[in-house]
Amino acid sequence: AIEVRDLHKYYGSHEVLKGVDFHVDAGQVVCVIGPSGSGKSTLLRCVNRLEEPTSGRILVEGIDICDPEVDLAAVRSRIGMVFQQFNLFPHMSVLKNLCVAQRRVRKRSQDEAVRIARDNLAKVGLADKENAYPAHLSGGQQQRVAIARALSMEPDMMLFDEPTSALDPELVGDVLAVMRTLATDGMTMMVVTHEMGFAREVGDNLVFMDGGVIVEEGDPVDVLSHPRHARTQAFLSKVL
Ligand code: ATP
Ligand code: MG
Repeated sequence: AIEVRDLHKYYGSHEVLKGVDFHVDAGQVVCVIGPSGSGKSTLLRCVNRLEEPTSGRILVEGIDICDPEVDLAAVRSRIGMVFQQFNLFPHMSVLKNLCVAQRRVRKRSQDEAVRIARDNLAKVGLADKENAYPAHLSGGQQQRVAIARALSMEPDMMLFDEPTSALDPELVGDVLAVMRTLATDGMTMMVVTHEMGFAREVGDNLVFMDGGVIVEEGDPVDVLSHPRHARTQAFLSKVL
């Protein structure tokens, strides 16, 4: 579970998160939408401290990740992260991409790492691609490899930052299908996305951000069909 309380983030004198309270319960899928620059990525990146919060509290599985004593590497290894750009290691095969962190961080034997990697490649429908190099895969396949790589660490939760935004439209569906399966299997997920269909069907909660605050949140079907705030209405009228 993720619990964010009164989170503020400044870049210099520019306040980009202005007191955000936010939570994702275990097994829940929370989707975050909002205009460009509203602070979605900053919020997501604060959750594993890729960005340093200016003030506020962030609890991940009950651990205060801003506590100076915290073992940040251990916390991060429990959080899988998938970005818009797939960030695969280009000089490694798919299988190697899935094994490196398992070996270095989880200290798994080669055999065990390979076994877990193969399980996860099968889960994302790419069992036959283990010897391929990223450059020889489509964007959608690369993103599914990135998801399988994150899953191979056996994280408690997954953070997605616009995982399908860089993909050609015909490749989006395969990636969303994998994410949907993950959700059904009970993974705790925070998903920044422009895919309103996914948010509506898979999300347990939908958060609309604008100008560094959460303007509105609730059941995705309610928020999408009956937005209460003018800013949410204006945003949705542009994207739906
Ligand atoms: P998008 O939909 O375009 O991805 P976003 O909602 O994810 O937007 P953020 O990337 O969180 O928005 O950015 C929020 C604000 O913080 C923006 O005004 C952005 O310019 C600013 N910002 C983000 N990263 C930095 C940085 N490293 N240094 C300075 N300003 C930053
Ligand atoms: Mg962003």
